[in-house]
Parts: sequence; structure tokens; C-alpha cells
Amino acid sequence: MANPVEQFRTMIDGASRIVFFTGAGISTESGIPDFRSPGTGLWNKIKPIEFDDFIASEEHRHEYWSRHFSSKDTTWADAKPNRGHLGIAKLVDEGNSTGVITQNIDNLHQDAGVPDDLVVELHGNRAYAKCLTCGARYELDDLKAQFERDDAVPPCRICGGIIKTATISFGQAMPEEEMQRAQNLTMECDLFVVVGSSLVVYPAAGFPQIAKRMGAELVILNREPTPLDPIADLVLHEEIGPTMGYLLDLN
Ligand code: NAD
Repeated sequence: MANPVEQFRTMIDGASRIVFFTGAGISTESGIPDFRSPGTGLWNKIKPIEFDDFIASEEHRHEYWSRHFSSKDTTWADAKPNRGHLGIAKLVDEGNSTGVITQNIDNLHQDAGVPDDLVVELHGNRAYAKCLTCGARYELDDLKAQFERDDAVPPCRICGGIIKTATISFGQAMPEEEMQRAQNLTMECDLFVVVGSSLVVYPAAGFPQIAKRMGAELVILNREPTPLDPIADLVLHEEIGPTMGYLLDLN
């Protein structure tokens, strides 16, 4: 019987429409903490600012932006893709994968070389900001300079709306177009590979179940057990970087 990593390689070789579904765990090797790992997860340290609070008060918006622009937080900007992101990018480049659905907001799949139009960002992207009313895009460096000067991020210069990072906060509606694209990719894949997600956040965690129902094989690569391990065809409780590196000769 082949070992699990060899089984994974065989499943990849036998598939032509692989969809990767990634969570915060794929980026920990790049120095970005995840939310739920015991001890180091971000939620053990700070309480997130809910969307309704952000909208309701200038005080919450101030707290939101000062966290975002704090020196600790901006270290994300220096994060580089690791072997997990590079392995996925390689398979996309070789034509074996139809796309990457990610819960991450760190832009590392694109930095690894996956074309923008093949990355579905369910929770948005923290590398830029948008007006919540008209959708106008703002660059964070400009907003940071204004925040440091005026102690506030200004309203949208086009419509006066509230500007926020282009991420989906707790309590904020999921983006409809991305949800639809993720659903389509999931329904059409022949292999669905979860990489670094605790699979406890819905609706995102519903996608592996849809893939299975539609007849795809399901692989879960995650250090800790997930609630969907029992329905997976292959579960690897391994480190992502070394596993993907070994699998794809990236070491
Ligand atoms: P999560 O924190 O709930 O789960 C991450 C999982 O990855 C954990 O089960 C952990 O055991 C595993 N893991 C961590 N490092 C690993 C490694 N090196 N190898 C193997 N497994 C590893 O994350 P989630 O499922 O993505 O859901 C929570 C939310 O976190 C998402 O909504 C996402 O928006 C947000 N988030 C994103 C980032 C990012 O963009 N990098 C960072 C933190 C949180």
C-alpha cells in the first residue's frame, strides 16, 4: 500500500480539474498566523471588529485602522509565498487545476503566480481598500499617510461612502459573485483538495461537501483533524510546506 503522500500524488496525476480550497493554514509557514491554531491563533490574542460596529462608530473605525496600520500588522506585507502556494501555482500552470478557492486575504496565491482570474477570494483581499458604497478602489499606502496625518481615514472622494479594507469582516455579507464562482468550480471539479483549513466556518466549509456529493474525490491536508475528515477519500495530518514540497519536487 502506497504511503499517504504517494496516494495524494497518484490522485493528482489522475485528475484534470483539481480545485484547491485553502485556509489560513497554508500561510503560517510564510509567517502569517492563522485564526484557530491552539496558542498561536490570532483569535487567542485579539477580538475581531464586527462589520456592524465598524459601520456604526468612528471609534471602532479608528481602532480598525490603527490595528491595520500598526507595525506588527504590516509585517504581512513582507510575507512571501511558501512551498504550499508555489506547489499549487505549479499545478495551475501545468493545466491540472481549474482554480483556487481561498478564505485567505493575503494575496499569496497571486504572488506565487496563480493568475488573478483563477483565484476566488471568499473573504476578500487585505492588500487594498474599497468604498463600501460605490466600490472605488483605494491604495493602503495613501490611506495610511492620511491616517497618520489626520488620525482618521477620509470618506470616499467619489461618493462620500465609508472606506474599508477589501476584506469580508464578521457580520458582513458574503460576496455573491465569488460565492457563485466558487460553487461552479466546486461542482465541476474531479478532485477537491483542502489545504490548511479547520473547516469550521460556513458557508465556506460547505464546498468540500458539495464536491463530494457531485462525485469528486476529496483530499484534506491539515495539521489537525477537521469535522470533514470522515467523508474525505484521503486525509493527511501533515505540515503543508514539506508535504507539497516533497510532492512536487520543490525542496
Ligand atoms: P483556521 O485558522 O480556522 O484554520 C487553519 C488550520 O490550518 C488549522 O486547523 C491548523 O491546524 C492548520 N494549520 C496551520 N498551519 C499549518 C501548517 N503549516 N500545516 C498544516 N496545517 C496547518 O483558518 P481558516 O479555516 O482559513 O478559517 C478562518 C479564517 O481565517 C478565514 O476566514 C480567513 O479569512 C482568515 N484568515 C486568513 C489569513 C490569511 O489570509 N493568511 C490569516 C488568518 C486568518
